[in-house]
Amino acid sequence: MTHSLILRHPTQAVRVDDIVIGGAAPIVVQSMTNTDTADITATTKQVHELAIAGSELVRITVNTSEAAEAVPHIRRRLDALGCNVPLIGDFHYNGHRLLTEYPECAQALAKYRINPGNVGRNRKGEDQFAMMIAVARQYDKPVRIGVNWGSLDQDLVVRMMDENAKLPEPKDVREVTREALIVSALQSAQRAEELGLSRDRIVLSCKVSEVQDLIAVYQQLAKRCDYALHLGLTEAGMGSKGIVASTAALSVLLQQGIGDTIRVSLTPAPGGARTEEVVVAQEILQTMGLRSFTPLVTACPGCGRTTSTVFQELAQHIQNYLRAQMPVWREEYSGVEEMTVAVMGCIVNGPGESKMANIGISLPGTGETPSAPVYVDGEKTVTLRGENIAEEFTRIVNEYVARKYVKK
Ligand code: SF4
Repeated sequence: MTHSLILRHPTQAVRVDDIVIGGAAPIVVQSMTNTDTADITATTKQVHELAIAGSELVRITVNTSEAAEAVPHIRRRLDALGCNVPLIGDFHYNGHRLLTEYPECAQALAKYRINPGNVGRNRKGEDQFAMMIAVARQYDKPVRIGVNWGSLDQDLVVRMMDENAKLPEPKDVREVTREALIVSALQSAQRAEELGLSRDRIVLSCKVSEVQDLIAVYQQLAKRCDYALHLGLTEAGMGSKGIVASTAALSVLLQQGIGDTIRVSLTPAPGGARTEEVVVAQEILQTMGLRSFTPLVTACPGCGRTTSTVFQELAQHIQNYLRAQMPVWREEYSGVEEMTVAVMGCIVNGPGESKMANIGISLPGTGETPSAPVYVDGEKTVTLRGENIAEEFTRIVNEYVARKYVKK
């Protein structure tokens, strides 16, 4: 589903195995592992978890010979688990060597990410960028040319700063750096085309860590090219800061129709789930009405009329339950991801919101009769009471899903 108010910026469609980025394809969610890729077991497990959470592409770092050797094993193990999520190899500095010396790795990956700021020519004078593009052509793999603020081609920056300094009215340093990012991406893409890679095998990204910079850079990129665009605020940070900054930046651009694939670069809390970045990416797209992944729960914030935690516990239980069920429901029922559930704290807004959701429950506020009316498709069907409201409401949700959505 694409929201009718949003006109997507037209881009080339790029096929990555069975997934399409750009063109008229839905915006793709991707993620990246944080395991040592040479650890085949740990990386396979995390890729599998990210795919189950809904990541449609998963990037893994390929930084050493051991990592490159591990890649085909990881691919085989994922296939054995029935997980066909495409793997993207993230290359810096030695990618040309790893891709040429480990052909099984080059073959097993579905796409290569190249950072032009970290390639260029090595001490032997080899054109490393050209070597990587040659491998991409040999195996017919798409490439993301991914420029980053933190690893921008310094020769290019210095040259552009010098040119800027000679202008009668030099631009602000930040503006010149933004322009250098865009120029680096566009020139590298043009170079890849000159080396024989077709436009429909190229995805571009220009990642920065500040919201306003990201918006400005991608607005320019969208004006100046029709390559498929990978969108993401890099180094977004931890917890609510990372989520809010990513959401703020991505939402503005997505609303303008810019972005064909997104990644939310969250730093997990120690021991936290890597899959959180997938959940956040999906929720950005779903709350904007761009795609549906998991039934959404509408819950009121609570106030002085909800003096117990029953309503918060029920809202959390239902939200967790719906997300946990999705890997199974997704395979069994068409359209279940568009279901809406309301969990409300009292009768002020409870019945109204409940009627607008597919299923809604309005719990008793302080001083109200201890009963919880349930609405299904706008009609009050039952009133729940007693200790087992959560279990009974979950049963009603399950029955509704089995009745309402078409079995695949
Ligand atoms: S629905 Fe009731 S409990 Fe929830 S915020 Fe509104 S008045 Fe408060």
